[in-house]
Amino acid sequence: MSPVAFIGLGHMGGPMAANLVKAGYSVRGFDLATASLELARENGVSTAASVAEAVSGAGIVITMLPAGAHVLSVWQELVAIVPSGTLLIDCSTIDMASARKAHALAEAHGCPALDAPVSGGTGGASAGTLTFMVGGDADVFAGAKAVFEAMGRKIIHCGGASAGQAAKICNNMILGISMIAVGEAFVLGERLGLTHQALFDVASVSSGQCWSLTTYCPVPGPVPTSPANHEYEPGFAAALMLKDLKLSQAAAADAGAMTPLGARAAALYQRFADDGFGDKDFSAIITMLRNKTDT
Ligand code: NAD
Repeated sequence: MSPVAFIGLGHMGGPMAANLVKAGYSVRGFDLATASLELARENGVSTAASVAEAVSGAGIVITMLPAGAHVLSVWQELVAIVPSGTLLIDCSTIDMASARKAHALAEAHGCPALDAPVSGGTGGASAGTLTFMVGGDADVFAGAKAVFEAMGRKIIHCGGASAGQAAKICNNMILGISMIAVGEAFVLGERLGLTHQALFDVASVSSGQCWSLTTYCPVPGPVPTSPANHEYEPGFAAALMLKDLKLSQAAAADAGAMTPLGARAAALYQRFADDGFGDKDFSAIITMLRNKTDT
């Protein structure tokens, strides 16, 4: 097994690196935050004092960073030091332009590369049940599959360079829109005197059925595990949903795609975050729909 360097050991990267260790990989990690490094060490990750130290001797480098600017900055540094042939994988959720630039950087230095954003949140990262959406050459994907399998359950090759980011952005635009749709339906149902359970019982077996309703129901009761039953603790924070919706709108503007509901969803999550609720689970948007009359 090729040694793995893991850059970005935060809420997602930390447990992902720990799962690689559990699967038998030798992992050396780096993060700017001392607390993340300490936690990673407790989970069997050997830690480094710099990107350069982390990637020394690694056959595979994985990055899990906040946004495109962080990824490009780290990739610029690492392509200058890793030998050609080193496999570079970015699992962060980033904008399409940065994803394309990262692939171009790797190609220019003779490094195979994959964009591989994930779905499944911190729970999936800890449990090793993430879904990976992967973009890049089919042969490179086939060679890297075992690494993904150590951290996830569903590994999907979406196409060439940056196709993984495209899939992630499109999926999360569906999710943001559908959560608002489900929230609106519950608020309207409340005003019409319908109980939450009655609407759930009908819509969950009818044409309104969707993940936002049946797995992540935004009202307490019908789905006991949903964040609505736990004061809307995330889960998936509204600020992260806003980030992904903004990525979808940047991609849509660039590609000339008409996404009016995506645009409206982004505006509503922006307002929710501006009201101070960015750290609540994204399903809590229903509270804004319920409490305001002019959205
Ligand atoms: P996080 O902020 O917890 O972790 C990011 C880590 O990167 C931090 O520990 C930070 O110190 C580190 N970092 C930043 N710049 C660095 C650099 N130059 N060198 C080394 N380390 C650096 O974020 P997260 O929740 O782990 O999310 C990571 C990515 O995964 C994001 O792109 C996010 O959109 C995506 N994502 C998150 C979730 C989720 O539920 N948290 C779900 C799916 C996807």
